[in-house]
Amino acid sequence: MVNLRTVALSAGLCLLAACKPQASDEAKAPPGTQKSEVNVQEVPTNYISEHEFQKGSSFYNSLRALNIDSATILKIVDSAKKVFPLQEIGAGTRYTIAWRSDDKTDPDSIELRIAADSSLLIERDNDSELEWTATKTVLPVTIQKKTFIGVVDSSLWESADLVGMDPSLITSLTEVFAWQVDFTRQVRRGDRWRLTVEQKIVNDQVIGWGNILAAEYDNGSQSFTGVRYPQIGPNASYYAANGSSLKQLFIKSPIKFGRVTSGFSKGRFHPILKILRPHNGVDYGAPVGTPIMTIGRGTIVDMGARGGSGNLIKIQHNGTYATAYLHMKAFAAGLRKGSVVEQGQVIGYVGTTGLSTGPHLHFAFYENGTYVDPLGRKFPSADPIAKADLPNFLKEVSGVLRTLPDWNVAQHVMPSGERQN
Ligand SMILES: [Zn+2]
Repeated sequence: MVNLRTVALSAGLCLLAACKPQASDEAKAPPGTQKSEVNVQEVPTNYISEHEFQKGSSFYNSLRALNIDSATILKIVDSAKKVFPLQEIGAGTRYTIAWRSDDKTDPDSIELRIAADSSLLIERDNDSELEWTATKTVLPVTIQKKTFIGVVDSSLWESADLVGMDPSLITSLTEVFAWQVDFTRQVRRGDRWRLTVEQKIVNDQVIGWGNILAAEYDNGSQSFTGVRYPQIGPNASYYAANGSSLKQLFIKSPIKFGRVTSGFSKGRFHPILKILRPHNGVDYGAPVGTPIMTIGRGTIVDMGARGGSGNLIKIQHNGTYATAYLHMKAFAAGLRKGSVVEQGQVIGYVGTTGLSTGPHLHFAFYENGTYVDPLGRKFPSADPIAKADLPNFLKEVSGVLRTLPDWNVAQHVMPSGERQN
């Protein structure tokens, strides 16, 4: 039997050389050796077609639409079964077919990008032309450091947008400083920030972001620095440059992005009751459905519909402090009285249940059973870097802080491979 692949390759080589005169390897090769210089695994470009799975179409139907016969498709599906279930292919998944000839009826191999960092190659067996083999490859992810710097004009989001930064990194930035800055009410025009973040790259393509390695937030009167330590591993946390932890007993706000519409007050004209009465908490205006986070670890001591308070959750954090979250639209799934919740965990969603004029969160803070104003209070910090780790930490900190862009500079890309350790 004629080896169709060899025929296809040699036919394609001329075309490849003709249409890619700039390929330096081929250009440098002396005449006559050109053929042996070329990687025989490479399939000529005119035998390759690129596709994308459409919504609502199965793997089988998609390949049938390309006029591949059913028997072949079933063999392909069967060969992949143990490695990856092809029926789970999602819409938008890209795949490349290498055909055995340029009439594109008989496939030789199919490569699918089954995840951002892995691909599945299904190809005809070398021994038996009728059998197929599937191999999954985890593509190597390279990390490069990227830096961003911004100045707030109207909002934090806009400052990121202006410098072309992925908005998801603004969320990461607010998480680094969640204990220092209340991003719902302390962001002002002129605030500036800068950060160094890991960028993940596969095959020269950016597939996403890793961790923020260092960041600073400067609001004119105060400047906060956060450094991730250790840079790699699940036990990393953010510390100030002197090794003190950025983590505190409570995060600054139960809502990521919203605004304080009414503060704590001993006497306030009630918008519905039309009388003067204390406002025993802080109101955050936010759209219905906005996630509400518990500001600290604790146990749910009350949960349910409570008259004018609407859907309420009360959390006891320790012997001294408790918090309550009112007017929720709904509670997060799986919670009940007695559940232990972690700091920052979503416990419910903003609504307007109970005595309420519109969607908002009423957030109450108790100290020894008495309502107090949580805004502007200082709470104890988590543990600093251990003494034994401090010399190594300080060495690493000075290195990573040097990667931050100069305050006067716009964005630029750092060279890769600068990782410490
Ligand atoms: Zn209120």
